[in-house]
Amino acid sequence: MGFIIDFLRQKAPRPGKEMPGYYQKALVTCEGLMAVYFVLYFFLFRWQLGHYLWVPLVALAINGLSRLSVGRANVRVATGLYALATALWVGWYALNFGWGCGGQHFLIPLLVMCFFNIYEPPWWKIVLLVLLVTCRMLLFSWCQHHDPIIEVSASAAILFQNVNSMTLFGMMACQFILFSSSIQDTERQLRLDNQELHKEAGTDPLTQLPNRRAMLDGMEEALGANPQMHFCVAIADIDFFKRVNDTYGHNCGDYTLKTLSDLFRDFAEGRYQVCRWGGEEFCFFLPEMNLDQAGQVMFDLCGEVRKLPLSFGGNDFSITITIGVEETDFLSPMAAILERADQKLYRGKIGGRNQVVL
Ligand code: GH3
Ligand code: MG
Ligand code: MG
Repeated sequence: MGFIIDFLRQKAPRPGKEMPGYYQKALVTCEGLMAVYFVLYFFLFRWQLGHYLWVPLVALAINGLSRLSVGRANVRVATGLYALATALWVGWYALNFGWGCGGQHFLIPLLVMCFFNIYEPPWWKIVLLVLLVTCRMLLFSWCQHHDPIIEVSASAAILFQNVNSMTLFGMMACQFILFSSSIQDTERQLRLDNQELHKEAGTDPLTQLPNRRAMLDGMEEALGANPQMHFCVAIADIDFFKRVNDTYGHNCGDYTLKTLSDLFRDFAEGRYQVCRWGGEEFCFFLPEMNLDQAGQVMFDLCGEVRKLPLSFGGNDFSITITIGVEETDFLSPMAAILERADQKLYRGKIGGRNQVVL
């Protein structure tokens, strides 16, 4: 029942001339169908209507005013006029032709329009619901105790009922298509935006590699799916990167990070996932590998980095990296395994850099 509380808490924006596209389309469609219906009634049943021939015309006029006011007057005016045309028609119809001809059905599309109107507060929607139900019940009991004013033959009553049913179903189908596709479109767009945001939040803007958070999430997910997985992690750090910045400038440092990231991506071939761990450090996740296998991949990668031709602003240079690799012991948490990989990286730095420490 929480949805009712949520509904009652809704706040309505101040109504103006603007209305949501889907609501405007639904209102105009309902008015259009009602207009066709009134004209049809006028011509098809004019011999049945006798003195009351003017009523469909009045309903048509109010309905037309409502159509004209869409986009020109306040939303409430447009919806109110539509409600007035419907109420006039339903009341007149039931009193004149009786309950069996089905004119009262048109209260339902009116109720749908009311509930999809974002400008009306919840209390007003509830009031209108109660009002419409009460009117319907009063009309019903009136029709039970009074004969219809206009006598219609049994075949005419069937025809009336069928025309009413077809118009009603047409209106409701249009409302459902418009309202449901609007909700689905909004939901689809929201999901796409969320996916995009999620991707952006997990991507390093400079290198376009996943960032530390996305990598940790990815590793958790992989291990969650297969807790007994044998895997290794590696942390790589560019040697003397500060010198690149100091010698050739910060832009050259950025270029180096991007070029190196491209190499890491191209060299992966599905063997590892890589992320920018921070600064000039990168982290690798090597699933389904023992220390020897992971060490070999990282050793080859180290060789590729050494050979990587770098050129920026007319300066040709090269870099090296140091990597610490650690294997899972199936017991330690990921943070501890990463910490041990980092310690190995540190040992590699002390031990002369440009190497892989297993
Ligand atoms: P070591 O071999 O001990 O790792 O030496 P190092 O110079 O690579 O290490 P240090 O920690 O002294 O310097 C790292 C430098 O990386 C300092 C920092 O300015 C630079 N750096 C970190 N992130 C970026 C970045 O996004 N762009 C650029 N251009 N430089 C960065
Ligand atoms: Mg560093
Ligand atoms: Mg460094």
